[in-house]
Amino acid sequence: MLDSTRKGDHQAVSLLPLSRRRFLAKTSYFGAFYAAAKLIPLPALAAQMTAGSRVSQTPIVDKGFASVRKVGEGLYATISDPSKGFQTLCNGGFLVGKDGALMIEGFGSATGATFQMDALRMVSQVPIKAALDTHYHFDHSMGNGFYAGNGIPLWAHANTPKRIVESYGAMQGADKAVALAPLEKAIKDSKTELARKHREENLGMVTNIFNIVNGTVLALPNHPIDPAKLPMKMDLGGLTAVIESYPGHSGTDIIVRVPEQSVVYTGDLLFSGLYPVCFDPQATVSGWRQTLKTFASWDKDSVFVPGHGPVCGQEGIALFRALFDDIEEQAQKMHKAGVPATEAADLYVVPEKHKNVGIFVWDFSIAPAISKLYAEWGAK
Ligand SMILES: [Zn+2]
Repeated sequence: MLDSTRKGDHQAVSLLPLSRRRFLAKTSYFGAFYAAAKLIPLPALAAQMTAGSRVSQTPIVDKGFASVRKVGEGLYATISDPSKGFQTLCNGGFLVGKDGALMIEGFGSATGATFQMDALRMVSQVPIKAALDTHYHFDHSMGNGFYAGNGIPLWAHANTPKRIVESYGAMQGADKAVALAPLEKAIKDSKTELARKHREENLGMVTNIFNIVNGTVLALPNHPIDPAKLPMKMDLGGLTAVIESYPGHSGTDIIVRVPEQSVVYTGDLLFSGLYPVCFDPQATVSGWRQTLKTFASWDKDSVFVPGHGPVCGQEGIALFRALFDDIEEQAQKMHKAGVPATEAADLYVVPEKHKNVGIFVWDFSIAPAISKLYAEWGAK
């Protein structure tokens, strides 16, 4: 919702002077901070997961803020638990063949990337062919400096370096009070208690992001992936990774999959047990839903390593699609009833059947999903 160039955004934001609007459009992003309590314990997860038996119950390493477990032959998932620390923030993983390894994600800090590299070195000494950011968001890229410092080539969507500079470079050196003033104003202008709560949550999260970004030396991927040239295969020696790009979450989304083992590293195109995060100016609800339809068409025993939340099977894709369905259904009713976009964005009600599904921050998740749907339908 912080992208004020679209229709259907909150009035408080869209009335801001252009410089601030542009700044905000470039500086919004959530962390996984509020999701941790919703993590499902692995045994419970394995029981409900079609592919659960393929995921190792015992991690090879567990540091609290993240653990690493085997999800296939030479395939590992790094799963974050932000309630225990912000070092990794997002999930990732690594693929280890006979000739080389591929690491996934730059994580929320260099400490997070170091943790994953150490885990990789516990199982193999093969050369590291590359690391890869699944997209530009801070919780997937603030640890890039680790790769820079270790001479590891860093791959990402061709637009990722630009988006990092525009979003986070712009935040560095900016006056914090000036940067956050529009969000403070949005709180003051709230017409309902609910709206106020959502705007306050938003300010809290943007403040977190501002602090993290200003405490980080930015490092940019040096190996651009041209989406027009995908899919691309990476031979690691007896293990072939396929790199693909799909629309939905950020405009820079790249996935890595191993079709021979039906394992998919989705980045933030999948949040497992969590509502989708749609705030990005280049997020597209209809495009994302199309992508999920594709994921659903893959092997019924697929293992998905999501950007956030626990490892899942096709049931995780089905739930995520159902969440989009429900948001759309409620938004459609409000749209038909003539509820303005700015009001509708606060009025979604989590149904009983989804009461255990986490929402990171309303204004990064539900509100922009509704705003984008309204924009697709023609805002009122
Ligand atoms: Zn993201």
